[in-house]
Amino acid sequence: MRQALRPREQRLLDYLTAFLHENGFQPSIREMGEALGLKSTRTVYAVLGRLEGKGWIERDRSRSRAVRLLTRAASWEDVAPEREPGPVFDPPEPADTQWMMRALEQAIAAGAAEEVPVGAVLVREGRLIAESHNRTRTTGDPTAHAEMVALRRAAERIGEARLEGATLYVTLEPCAMCAGAIVLAKVSRLVYAATDPKTGMCGSLGCIVQDRRLNHRTRTTRGVLADSAGALLRGFFQDRRSRPPARP
Ligand code: ZN
Repeated sequence: MRQALRPREQRLLDYLTAFLHENGFQPSIREMGEALGLKSTRTVYAVLGRLEGKGWIERDRSRSRAVRLLTRAASWEDVAPEREPGPVFDPPEPADTQWMMRALEQAIAAGAAEEVPVGAVLVREGRLIAESHNRTRTTGDPTAHAEMVALRRAAERIGEARLEGATLYVTLEPCAMCAGAIVLAKVSRLVYAATDPKTGMCGSLGCIVQDRRLNHRTRTTRGVLADSAGALLRGFFQDRRSRPPARP
Protein backbone atom coordinates (compact mmCIF):
# COMPACT_ATOMS: atom_id res chain seq x y z
CA MET A 1 0.00 0.00 0.00
CA ARG A 2 1.34 3.42 -0.87
CA GLN A 3 1.73 5.90 1.92
CA ALA A 4 1.32 9.68 1.71
CA LEU A 5 4.33 11.67 0.59
CA ARG A 6 6.06 14.66 2.08
CA PRO A 7 6.61 17.65 -0.24
CA ARG A 8 10.22 16.76 -1.06
CA GLU A 9 9.34 13.14 -1.78
CA GLN A 10 6.46 14.26 -3.99
CA ARG A 11 8.78 16.62 -5.86
CA LEU A 12 11.29 13.88 -6.56
CA LEU A 13 8.56 11.48 -7.69
CA ASP A 14 7.10 14.10 -10.03
CA TYR A 15 10.54 14.83 -11.41
CA LEU A 16 11.30 11.13 -11.93
CA THR A 17 8.00 10.52 -13.66
CA ALA A 18 8.35 13.52 -15.96
CA PHE A 19 11.96 12.67 -16.80
CA LEU A 20 11.12 9.04 -17.55
CA HIS A 21 8.23 10.10 -19.70
CA GLU A 22 10.39 12.45 -21.70
CA ASN A 23 13.57 10.38 -21.99
CA GLY A 24 12.60 6.77 -21.47
CA PHE A 25 15.36 6.32 -18.89
CA GLN A 26 16.03 7.55 -15.44
CA PRO A 27 17.90 10.72 -14.49
CA SER A 28 21.22 10.46 -12.71
CA ILE A 29 21.45 10.94 -8.98
CA ARG A 30 23.20 14.26 -9.61
CA GLU A 31 20.33 15.41 -11.82
CA MET A 32 17.84 14.39 -9.17
CA GLY A 33 19.80 16.42 -6.64
CA GLU A 34 19.82 19.48 -8.89
CA ALA A 35 16.10 19.19 -9.52
CA LEU A 36 15.51 19.23 -5.77
CA GLY A 37 18.06 21.94 -5.07
CA LEU A 38 20.09 19.49 -3.01
CA LYS A 39 23.86 19.38 -3.03
CA SER A 40 24.30 16.11 -1.20
CA THR A 41 23.68 12.94 -3.15
CA ARG A 42 23.26 11.23 0.20
CA THR A 43 20.09 13.22 0.79
CA VAL A 44 18.83 12.19 -2.66
CA TYR A 45 19.45 8.55 -1.77
CA ALA A 46 17.61 9.07 1.49
CA VAL A 47 14.56 10.51 -0.29
CA LEU A 48 14.67 7.65 -2.83
CA GLY A 49 14.82 5.20 0.07
CA ARG A 50 11.72 6.75 1.61
CA LEU A 51 9.88 6.64 -1.74
CA GLU A 52 10.75 2.97 -1.99
CA GLY A 53 9.74 2.32 1.60
CA LYS A 54 6.40 3.94 0.95
CA GLY A 55 5.82 1.81 -2.13
CA TRP A 56 6.04 4.52 -4.78
CA ILE A 57 9.14 3.33 -6.56
CA GLU A 58 11.01 0.08 -6.87
CA ARG A 59 14.68 -0.57 -7.26
CA ASP A 60 15.55 -2.37 -10.42
CA ARG A 61 18.07 -4.93 -9.20
CA SER A 62 18.49 -6.48 -12.59
CA ARG A 63 20.43 -3.57 -14.00
CA SER A 64 24.13 -2.96 -13.94
CA ARG A 65 25.58 -1.24 -10.90
CA ALA A 66 25.70 2.11 -12.62
CA VAL A 67 21.96 2.33 -12.93
CA ARG A 68 20.89 -0.07 -10.22
CA LEU A 69 19.90 2.63 -7.89
CA LEU A 70 17.43 3.99 -10.23
CA THR A 71 14.05 3.19 -9.83
CA ARG A 72 10.87 2.33 -11.40
CA ALA A 73 8.35 5.04 -10.80
CA ALA A 74 5.08 3.64 -9.58
CA SER A 75 3.50 5.02 -12.73
CA TRP A 76 6.27 3.70 -14.97
CA GLU A 77 3.88 1.47 -16.84
CA ASP A 78 2.13 4.59 -18.05
CA VAL A 79 5.19 6.67 -18.75
CA ALA A 80 7.62 4.21 -20.32
CA PRO A 81 5.94 0.96 -21.29
CA GLU A 82 8.97 -0.06 -23.36
CA ARG A 83 11.42 -0.04 -20.46
CA GLU A 84 12.33 -3.73 -20.64
CA PRO A 85 13.69 -4.82 -23.97
CA GLY A 86 11.58 -7.73 -25.13
CA PRO A 87 12.98 -11.05 -26.25
CA VAL A 88 14.99 -11.05 -29.47
CA PHE A 89 14.25 -13.77 -31.99
CA ASP A 90 17.01 -14.70 -34.40
CA PRO A 91 16.22 -15.69 -37.99
CA PRO A 92 16.37 -19.43 -38.77
CA GLU A 93 19.62 -21.08 -39.79
CA PRO A 94 19.93 -23.38 -42.83
CA ALA A 95 19.80 -26.68 -40.92
CA ASP A 96 16.84 -25.69 -38.76
CA THR A 97 14.10 -27.07 -40.99
CA GLN A 98 15.76 -30.47 -41.26
CA TRP A 99 16.16 -30.84 -37.49
CA MET A 100 12.67 -29.56 -36.83
CA MET A 101 11.35 -32.23 -39.21
CA ARG A 102 13.03 -34.75 -36.97
CA ALA A 103 11.43 -33.19 -33.88
CA LEU A 104 8.07 -33.37 -35.68
CA GLU A 105 8.59 -37.09 -36.26
CA GLN A 106 9.00 -37.41 -32.50
CA ALA A 107 5.83 -35.40 -31.97
CA ILE A 108 3.95 -37.74 -34.28
CA ALA A 109 5.28 -40.71 -32.31
CA ALA A 110 4.02 -39.06 -29.11
CA GLY A 111 0.55 -38.63 -30.62
CA ALA A 112 0.52 -42.29 -31.65
CA ALA A 113 1.20 -43.18 -28.00
CA GLU A 114 -1.75 -41.02 -26.86
CA GLU A 115 0.61 -38.37 -25.58
CA VAL A 116 0.23 -34.66 -26.39
CA PRO A 117 2.25 -34.52 -29.62
CA VAL A 118 5.37 -32.55 -28.76
CA GLY A 119 8.83 -33.65 -29.87
CA ALA A 120 12.34 -32.43 -29.11
CA VAL A 121 15.76 -32.97 -30.62
CA LEU A 122 19.12 -31.89 -29.22
CA VAL A 123 21.95 -31.25 -31.65
CA ARG A 124 25.57 -30.27 -31.18
CA GLU A 125 28.13 -29.58 -33.88
CA GLY A 126 25.71 -30.80 -36.50
CA ARG A 127 25.18 -34.13 -34.76
CA LEU A 128 22.18 -35.54 -32.97
CA ILE A 129 22.77 -36.01 -29.23
CA ALA A 130 19.27 -36.91 -28.07
CA GLU A 131 15.69 -36.97 -29.25
CA SER A 132 12.48 -37.65 -27.45
CA HIS A 133 8.85 -36.78 -27.09
CA ASN A 134 6.38 -35.95 -24.40
CA ARG A 135 5.94 -38.90 -22.02
CA THR A 136 3.82 -37.53 -19.18
CA ARG A 137 0.97 -40.01 -19.60
CA THR A 138 3.10 -43.05 -20.30
CA THR A 139 5.28 -42.47 -17.26
CA GLY A 140 2.76 -40.75 -14.98
CA ASP A 141 5.40 -38.06 -14.53
CA PRO A 142 4.23 -34.44 -14.91
CA THR A 143 7.81 -33.33 -15.62
CA ALA A 144 8.33 -35.73 -18.55
CA HIS A 145 7.96 -33.05 -21.21
CA ALA A 146 9.80 -33.68 -24.48
CA GLU A 147 12.47 -31.09 -23.67
CA MET A 148 13.14 -32.49 -20.18
CA VAL A 149 13.49 -36.03 -21.47
CA ALA A 150 15.82 -34.89 -24.26
CA LEU A 151 17.99 -32.82 -21.90
CA ARG A 152 18.30 -35.71 -19.45
CA ARG A 153 19.21 -38.16 -22.20
CA ALA A 154 21.76 -35.77 -23.68
CA ALA A 155 23.42 -35.08 -20.33
CA GLU A 156 23.57 -38.80 -19.61
CA ARG A 157 24.96 -39.56 -23.00
CA ILE A 158 27.76 -37.01 -22.94
CA GLY A 159 28.33 -37.34 -19.20
CA GLU A 160 27.95 -33.65 -18.49
CA ALA A 161 25.24 -31.45 -17.02
CA ARG A 162 26.20 -28.49 -19.18
CA LEU A 163 25.12 -28.55 -22.78
CA GLU A 164 26.94 -25.50 -24.07
CA GLY A 165 27.11 -25.32 -27.82
CA ALA A 166 23.95 -27.41 -28.16
CA THR A 167 20.77 -26.43 -29.98
CA LEU A 168 17.42 -27.69 -28.75
CA TYR A 169 14.69 -28.10 -31.35
CA VAL A 170 11.17 -28.45 -29.99
CA THR A 171 7.85 -28.42 -31.79
CA LEU A 172 6.07 -26.27 -29.18
CA GLU A 173 7.21 -23.23 -27.22
CA PRO A 174 8.68 -24.47 -23.91
CA CYS A 175 6.82 -23.98 -20.62
CA ALA A 176 8.32 -22.41 -17.48
CA MET A 177 9.77 -25.70 -16.26
CA CYS A 178 11.46 -26.56 -19.55
CA ALA A 179 12.67 -22.99 -20.10
CA GLY A 180 14.24 -23.13 -16.63
CA ALA A 181 15.92 -26.43 -17.48
CA ILE A 182 17.24 -24.99 -20.76
CA VAL A 183 18.87 -22.15 -18.81
CA LEU A 184 20.29 -24.51 -16.16
CA ALA A 185 21.77 -26.75 -18.85
CA LYS A 186 23.20 -23.65 -20.57
CA VAL A 187 21.83 -24.71 -23.93
CA SER A 188 23.20 -22.21 -26.47
CA ARG A 189 20.29 -22.06 -28.83
CA LEU A 190 16.59 -22.84 -28.78
CA VAL A 191 14.50 -23.30 -31.91
CA TYR A 192 10.80 -23.89 -31.53
CA ALA A 193 7.96 -24.30 -33.98
CA ALA A 194 4.50 -23.32 -32.66
CA THR A 195 3.98 -20.67 -30.02
CA ASP A 196 1.98 -21.55 -26.91
CA PRO A 197 -0.08 -18.57 -25.77
CA LYS A 198 -1.35 -20.48 -22.72
CA THR A 199 1.84 -21.73 -21.09
CA GLY A 200 4.73 -20.65 -23.33
CA MET A 201 7.52 -18.96 -21.39
CA CYS A 202 9.90 -18.33 -24.28
CA GLY A 203 8.19 -15.27 -25.74
CA SER A 204 4.45 -15.67 -25.12
CA LEU A 205 3.78 -15.21 -21.39
CA GLY A 206 7.34 -14.29 -20.55
CA CYS A 207 10.82 -15.19 -21.70
CA ILE A 208 12.83 -17.11 -19.14
CA VAL A 209 15.52 -18.10 -21.66
CA GLN A 210 16.40 -14.46 -22.25
CA ASP A 211 15.84 -13.03 -18.79
CA ARG A 212 18.71 -10.68 -18.11
CA ARG A 213 18.61 -11.39 -14.40
CA LEU A 214 19.64 -15.01 -14.95
CA ASN A 215 23.22 -16.04 -15.55
CA HIS A 216 22.65 -17.63 -18.93
CA ARG A 217 20.74 -16.58 -21.99
CA THR A 218 19.78 -18.80 -24.88
CA ARG A 219 19.53 -17.46 -28.41
CA THR A 220 16.05 -18.17 -29.68
CA THR A 221 14.43 -18.72 -33.07
CA ARG A 222 10.75 -19.45 -33.41
CA GLY A 223 8.25 -20.31 -36.10
CA VAL A 224 10.22 -23.05 -37.89
CA LEU A 225 7.56 -25.44 -39.29
CA ALA A 226 5.07 -23.80 -36.94
CA ASP A 227 2.09 -24.62 -39.17
CA SER A 228 2.80 -28.34 -39.20
CA ALA A 229 3.45 -28.48 -35.46
CA GLY A 230 0.31 -26.46 -34.71
CA ALA A 231 -1.85 -28.59 -37.01
CA LEU A 232 -0.60 -31.73 -35.31
CA LEU A 233 -1.58 -30.38 -31.87
CA ARG A 234 -4.96 -29.13 -33.03
CA GLY A 235 -5.71 -32.44 -34.72
CA PHE A 236 -4.80 -34.32 -31.56
CA PHE A 237 -7.10 -32.31 -29.32
CA GLN A 238 -9.97 -32.26 -31.84
CA ASP A 239 -9.71 -36.00 -32.17
CA ARG A 240 -9.88 -36.46 -28.41
CA ARG A 241 -12.87 -34.15 -28.07
CA SER A 242 -14.82 -35.91 -30.80
CA ARG A 243 -14.19 -39.37 -29.39
CA PRO A 244 -16.86 -40.88 -27.14
CA PRO A 245 -15.83 -41.00 -23.50
CA ALA A 246 -14.10 -44.20 -22.48
CA ARG A 247 -16.28 -46.69 -20.62
CA PRO A 248 -15.40 -47.16 -16.98
ZN1 ZN B 1 7.63 -28.02 -20.62
